[in-house]
Amino acid sequence: MVSTQQLIEIITEMAQVIQQNKDFLTELDMPIGDSDHGINLARGFQAVVAKLPTLADKDAGTILKTVGMTLVSTVGGASGPLYGTAFMKAGAKMMGKTELTMDDLIVMLHEAVEGIKMRGKATTGEQTMLDAMVPALEALKESRSLTAALAAAQDGVERTKDMIATKGRASYLGERSLGHQDPGATSFTLLLGVIAKRG
Ligand code: ADP
Ligand code: MG
Repeated sequence: MVSTQQLIEIITEMAQVIQQNKDFLTELDMPIGDSDHGINLARGFQAVVAKLPTLADKDAGTILKTVGMTLVSTVGGASGPLYGTAFMKAGAKMMGKTELTMDDLIVMLHEAVEGIKMRGKATTGEQTMLDAMVPALEALKESRSLTAALAAAQDGVERTKDMIATKGRASYLGERSLGHQDPGATSFTLLLGVIAKRG
C-alpha cells in the first residue's frame, strides 16, 4: 500500500532522479533529436516539486492530475504533453483514493500507456518511450513484481537501439536512428526505478 504522503515522496524522488540524469538524457537526445530531453523533464519536474506543498492533503487522483497538468504546461517538446497525459489519465482513475495498491499501479500504468498511444499516435516498435512502458506493463500484469517490470523496461530500452524511429524528431533521421537508445524510454525506466526501489 502506498499512502498519498508516500506518493508525494515518490514524485519528489522522481524529480531528483531526473535532475541527476539531466545531462545523460540530454546527451541521448543529441544524435537523434535536439539535445533537450533532460532539460525538458528537469524543468517540468522542478515545477512539479514547487506545486507539491499545495497537494499534501489531496487524494491520489488530484495529486497525479496536478503533476500531469504541470508537466503539460511547463515542458516544451513532445515529452511534456506525453508524460503529462500519462499522469493525468492515471490520476483520473484514482480520484478520491488515499491508498494505492498493486492493482491500482497496474491500472495507472495501463492508463499511462493508452494515453501516450493516443496522444502520440504511436505504438510499440517505433523507438519511443512506449518500448519501455509496454513491456513493463506486461511484466507487471503477469508477475506483479516491480523488479520484473523494471527489468522488462530496461530490456525494452536496449531493444530501442535495434529500431528505426517512426515517431517524433528521431523519425526525421530514418535508418540513421538505428543504433541509438531512445531518450524517452530511458527516462521512463528511471522513473519506474524510483517506484521499484520502494518495492
Ligand atoms: P522533443 O522530441 O520534442 O524534443 P523530448 O526530447 O523531450 O521532445 O522527448 C523525446 C522523446 O519523446 C523521445 O525519445 C520519445 O521517447 C518520445 N516521443 C516523441 N514523439 C513521440 C510519440 N509520437 N509517441 C510516443 N513517444 C514519443
Ligand atoms: Mg528533444
